Amino acid sequence: MLPFEIYHTFVIEHRYGFNRTNVATFIVDRLKEWLIAGLLLGGLTFIILTLFENFGLRAWIVGWICSAAISIILIYVAPTVILPLFFKLSPVPDGPLRDQVIELSLRERFPIRELLVIDGSRRSSKANDFFTGFGSNKRIALYDTLINNHTVPELLAVLAHEIGHFKKHHIVRHLIIGQLNLLLVFLGASFCISRPELFETFGVSVHSYYVGFALYLILIRPFAVLFGVLVNYWSRRDEFEADRFAAETLGDPNPLIQALKRLSKDSLSNLTPHPLLVSLHFTHPPVLARVQALRAVASVNRKGPTSN
Ligand SMILES: [Zn+2]
Repeated sequence: MLPFEIYHTFVIEHRYGFNRTNVATFIVDRLKEWLIAGLLLGGLTFIILTLFENFGLRAWIVGWICSAAISIILIYVAPTVILPLFFKLSPVPDGPLRDQVIELSLRERFPIRELLVIDGSRRSSKANDFFTGFGSNKRIALYDTLINNHTVPELLAVLAHEIGHFKKHHIVRHLIIGQLNLLLVFLGASFCISRPELFETFGVSVHSYYVGFALYLILIRPFAVLFGVLVNYWSRRDEFEADRFAAETLGDPNPLIQALKRLSKDSLSNLTPHPLLVSLHFTHPPVLARVQALRAVASVNRKGPTSN
């Protein structure tokens, strides 16, 4: 993928004025990524293959438990250990933004431990935000590009949207679906990886768990695409729900509509993507659909609940 990443960053993103990365940062970033991915995936593969070598096909359940445990540990480790390797995180300074975010999170009983700003502008002029953590360990991180280009009401609307994902249990649901998917992958592996047909199909004469696993992962790739379509559909539905939550919580859909418009304008989003592209790749609905849905919330609220 490296040639495509280079072309994307230094040709396409550069052409439209988004790229802020220089060659040195790009190289160091890739080296860090490969090192982290190599250690994690290498370690996990080692554990799983050792399990299969020792326990045979019964290892799938232990393999799944190990993978699930590692992915849950990563939810905690990624924002606190891995993210700071790439970005500088600092608390959002005192001021109207901080005050109003804290007021909103108290009102919505959404305890945040840290409200951070990320120096995303060192790499790209595109804006983003996310929140991580569970229970009382919640952290919200806003890109500096987001803070610099949006008004306080718009930023609050974006945060209300994130709180909506939490309040509507999207985060827990996505985690459970991900682990069930992993369970199916392991269950399928226990049926497939030692079948002679699998090795014959790929013309491989060496029968072993590690070759079987590699062939099995190639075999299930089409299913992964289909599953991705389903997961993307759920994700887009959740985005509408979080938008709706934000509009209702703030009693006004307009700040979020403004924020969405500004985000699409600043990042030159495609306003009318082909529906096939949306279903295959989009985790978020096209912005026009989101704005229309938000306006519908507003008109329902104006009419009142009785007239429907
Ligand atoms: Zn969202």
